[in-house]
Amino acid sequence: MKQREERCEVELPVRGSVSVWDTDPLTYGRYLRDLRCARCGAVEDLVLRTRDTWGLLICPQGHAWRDPAAKAFGIRLLYARVRKIGQPGPHHDELRGLDRDAGASPSWVVPLLSEPRDAVAPDDDASISAARLQWTIDGALGEPDQPPLTQAMYWARALLTWAFPRDPVTWAMVKREQLALDAHMVMVVLGLALYEYGYAASTADLQTLPLTAPLEMLEDTEQRNLLRRVRPSGLQRVGGTLRVTDRDRLANCSPAQWAYWCDVAASVLSASLQDARIDAAAEHGGRVELPDAGTRLSRRRDKADIAPEDWYTWYTVPVE
Ligand SMILES: [Zn+2]
Repeated sequence: MKQREERCEVELPVRGSVSVWDTDPLTYGRYLRDLRCARCGAVEDLVLRTRDTWGLLICPQGHAWRDPAAKAFGIRLLYARVRKIGQPGPHHDELRGLDRDAGASPSWVVPLLSEPRDAVAPDDDASISAARLQWTIDGALGEPDQPPLTQAMYWARALLTWAFPRDPVTWAMVKREQLALDAHMVMVVLGLALYEYGYAASTADLQTLPLTAPLEMLEDTEQRNLLRRVRPSGLQRVGGTLRVTDRDRLANCSPAQWAYWCDVAASVLSASLQDARIDAAAEHGGRVELPDAGTRLSRRRDKADIAPEDWYTWYTVPVE
């Protein structure tokens, strides 16, 4: 199987037929159907291609069409899966990556960076302000039950794994040659923005934050530079600090590199905010003034493509 990317679009030739799940609109029964060219009837050896948010299906004779079950999101997931675990077998059941409901492992699309996860030692309680210490304790021991940076990194991964395969702007921005590193640092930027805004807003439960605030932070050059110097203090025996590798990258990366990670992070938030506003408008009858709650992080939980094993532990482990 050949795989090719042009203009950051995905092109994926598949052997055999491609089946997708569909729903009978009267009985709501689910069934599998082949993707089939309406002009020549071809069902085998199709090429799947993405274009912005939608997918193109191309038969061996060059006829192209669209199918509601083959969106760009699903084709990007399938492409990522093929790249990760190899060519799907000839059985159509293995092509369900095209089906949104079939789910997919986010690590296919956003690989975890393979590197030591050693965490920076938490600051001494005496060396941080009483307010920040109390805020960190509130997060670790209170309702969220996690120190603020740990919560922030969970949400950073949730936001990126949602936006990356779905948002064509973000997809086009992320460089493929160092995908794991760039994706990781974009998550660090997102995490720091959520962490710092959570402190500014005096809330230790970060899921109550609106998506708008960290986006404003990431679109402002001065605030970006401040963000680069943020070093979460964490707590002894609980964790909540950066990885050593991340601390070093933040200290040593070039201004252009930092700006690039911030640009992608802003794109992730922007795509998530757009989706949240569409959802909120649908829920509230299309009113111009949307309730603020519609754009809060907590509303993104249902959309998060996060594997259980990635839950609150993917970033680092507590420091003993
Ligand atoms: Zn055809």
